[in-house]
Amino acid sequence: MDVNHTFLDIMGYSREDLVQQHFESIMSTANKLIFHTYFYPFINLNGHVEEMFISLRDRKGLAIPFLLNGRRFEKEGVEIIDCILMQMGKRIDYEVEIRTAKRQIEEAYWEKDQALEELQQLHAEIEQKQQELMDLNADLLKLSVTDKLTGLNNRRFFEDKLAEQIALYGKIQQPFSLYIIDIDHFKKVNDTWGHPIGDLVLVRLAEILQSHVRSEDMVARLGGEEFVLILPNLDAAESKRRAEDLRLAVERATWETGDITVSIGIATYSPMDSDASILKKADLALYASKENGRNRITHIMDL
Ligand code: GH3
Ligand code: MG
Ligand code: MG
Repeated sequence: MDVNHTFLDIMGYSREDLVQQHFESIMSTANKLIFHTYFYPFINLNGHVEEMFISLRDRKGLAIPFLLNGRRFEKEGVEIIDCILMQMGKRIDYEVEIRTAKRQIEEAYWEKDQALEELQQLHAEIEQKQQELMDLNADLLKLSVTDKLTGLNNRRFFEDKLAEQIALYGKIQQPFSLYIIDIDHFKKVNDTWGHPIGDLVLVRLAEILQSHVRSEDMVARLGGEEFVLILPNLDAAESKRRAEDLRLAVERATWETGDITVSIGIATYSPMDSDASILKKADLALYASKENGRNRITHIMDL
């Protein structure tokens, strides 16, 4: 019945070309089929059709895609169908935009994944560094309580261990004994053989001590050529027997420097003792061993 300028401009037709012609005259056979199977039944049933895809031929015979909205109504007893056509070009532009946006989102996701992966890798590296630091700390802790020359525990470790043993006595009255071991005439060894050989004697003696104690005993180098042992669960009598075994082991060992002997002072913990007093007692006993000719053991209780 009628057509507007916009449609005529898009399609290249004049008004005369289309007015009083059937709408289907500018459709391909395939489009006519769709029109018949979809448009007519639908508009008859519902009175309207929305966003139906259809392509119409322009003057040059090119298929131009449209979205078609239709509305059916009656005017003075005549059935009229209004059609509004929207060119698909717009829709394609939107689709391109949507597709671009989708691709950008995908890229953003990919970058996020990438960043997450880097973050996880960083996290793993940090964890590894932390582990290394902890290992290093453990090494440092070990070093701080170890005597460099002999590899035995050092004085600091011994002091902690002694405090621990005294505390344990307070709790469960477990007795323990303490030895101070001093090399006899060590100055002469150094003077005769030199300091480096003197060092080797210290290392060898550390090995002998270490191999003659029980697993629960603690051996430490107190400093110089003095060593100290803490022996848990050992009363005075037993501590003397074990000290004598140690003294003999040193005496009987083979030394490149000629005989090496040690003097030993022993004290067994009693409830009145402090860390300083038990050390003092062992030291007095050691002094007695030296005074009485060296290469011997003395328990403080025998003085
Ligand atoms: P005594 O029988 O009375 O114990 O005599 P001594 O010679 O063993 O005792 P003194 O205290 O007079 O001498 C100890 C020597 O130990 C002096 C020092 O040079 C030596 N000495 C201390 N520490 C070390 C060390 O790490 N390496 C070496 N080679 N010698 C050391
Ligand atoms: Mg000494
Ligand atoms: Mg000495």
